[in-house]
Amino acid sequence: MASATLEKLHQSIRDVPDFPKPGIIFKDITPLLCDGPLFRSAIDLFLERCRAQEIDKVVCIDARGFLFGSAVAYELGLGLVPIRKRGKLPYKTERAAYTLEYGEAEMEMHIDSVQPGERIVLIDDLLATGGTSASAVALIEKVGGVLVEAQFLIELEFLRGREKLEPASVVSFLKY
Ligand code: AMP
Repeated sequence: MASATLEKLHQSIRDVPDFPKPGIIFKDITPLLCDGPLFRSAIDLFLERCRAQEIDKVVCIDARGFLFGSAVAYELGLGLVPIRKRGKLPYKTERAAYTLEYGEAEMEMHIDSVQPGERIVLIDDLLATGGTSASAVALIEKVGGVLVEAQFLIELEFLRGREKLEPASVVSFLKY
C-alpha cells in the first residue's frame, strides 16, 4: 500500500486520554471508520496479507475485530468465527480468561465453529498487552485450529503484547 495512504491511516487514529480509565490513552478508530476510502484502505491492509496465505477461516475478536474480520471473510468467501465476551454466545463454548490493559474478563468461542486442522487467521483492531489475543489463540488451539497469523490494525509496541503470542506470526499495520 502507498506510504501516503498508510500515513493518512496513521493520522486518522484519535488519542482519547483517560478513557475508559485514568492513565489509559484510548486509540479511537471511529474517525477512520466514518471515512469511506480510509475504512476501505484499512480492510485492504488485512486483505493483502490474507491473500498471500492459505486460510480456511477468519476468527475475530469482540467487538471492533468484527468490523474488519467480517469484511475480510466476505471478500475472500471464508467462514467467520466470532470470539465474544463471556455470556454473549448462545451455544456450547470453550472459555479462556485474560487480563486487559484496563481490566479482566473471559472470552468464549463456540465449540463447533472451527474444525480440527483448519487454518485460521485471527483479526482484531488493536494489540495492547496481548492478553485478549493470547486467550483467542488458546481458544483456537483448544478446538484444534491451526493459527496461521494474528493480524492487528494497530499495535501499541511499548506494551510488548506480541511477546505473549510468540511463536505465532504477528502482523500489525499501524504502530504507536
Ligand atoms: P490487550 O488484551 O491488552 O492486548 O487489549 C486488546 C483489546 O483491548 C483489543 O480488543 C482492543 O480493542 C482493546 N484495547 C486495549 N487497549 C486499548 C487502547 N489503548 N485503545 C483502544 N483499544 C484498546
